[in-house]
Amino acid sequence: MKKLIAGNWKMNASLAGNETLVNELRAGIGAPACDVAICVPSPYFQQVQGLLAGQDTIVMGSQNVSSHESGAYTGDVSATMLKEFGIRYAIVGHSERRLHQAESDTHVAIKAERALEAGITPIVCVGETLREREEGMTEFIVKRQLAAVIHLVGHCISEIVVAYEPVWAIGTGKTATPEQAQEVHGVLRTQLRAATEHADKIRLLYGGSMNAGNAAALLAQPDIDGGLIGGASLKAADFLAIIAAAQ
Ligand code: PEP
Repeated sequence: MKKLIAGNWKMNASLAGNETLVNELRAGIGAPACDVAICVPSPYFQQVQGLLAGQDTIVMGSQNVSSHESGAYTGDVSATMLKEFGIRYAIVGHSERRLHQAESDTHVAIKAERALEAGITPIVCVGETLREREEGMTEFIVKRQLAAVIHLVGHCISEIVVAYEPVWAIGTGKTATPEQAQEVHGVLRTQLRAATEHADKIRLLYGGSMNAGNAAALLAQPDIDGGLIGGASLKAADFLAIIAAAQ
C-alpha cells in the first residue's frame, strides 16, 4: 500500500519559519512514492493553505479536533472548521494530549468520529509509556486504546490511520527497533482484522524519533505503512530524506 509520511510540527511555528519550511519542502519534494502531510498549529492553517496552493503532493493536517460539533466550547476547534481550511488529516489521541489534557480513550474515539463525519481522516495515536513496557503491558495498552475507537466507529474503521507511538520514544532520541515496532504493529493489524475485512488497507504509522538515519529500516517492516514525524519534520532536509525512504 502507499505509505503516508505525516509531519507533526507540534507547537513549533512562526509566519516566517513556516514560509521557509514549506517553500523548501515544495522545492525538494519532487514526485514522492508516498503520501505526505504536515500537521500544523491551527492559527497557521490559512497561511499554510496558501503556501501549499497549486500543488497536491503535500496536504495539511491538524494536531487535534474538538469532540464537539459546535457551540459553547471555548478554545475548541471543530472538524467542520478544519474542513473549511482544507484539512485532510487530524491527529487524535497524541500521547502529549492524553498526558497533559487528560484525554481518555473514549474522548479520543469521539474525536476520531467527529473527524470522520467531516470527511477528515483521523490519525489515531496509541502507545505505551516506558513503565507500561517494562511491566509487560504494551499489548494490553495499545489494544485498549484502539478498541475504544473500533467500538465507536467500527462501521468506518477502515477509513482511519493508526499511529503506534511508544511514549518513551517520542522526542527522546530513543527509537523502537524495527523489530519492536513491527511486533506491536502486528498486534494492531490482528486486532483490526477482527474488526474489518479491510484491515490490510489501514495504514499503520510508526512514530517516535524517526529520522533520516533510521526511517528506511523501520519503513521496511511489513506492517509499518508510514511514519508520524515530530522533530525531524521541522527541518526540510530531514523530512525530505524520510519521505525519500518511504518507497
Ligand atoms: C510525535 O510527536 O508524534 C513524534 C513522533 O515526535 P518525535 O518524532 O520528535 O519523536
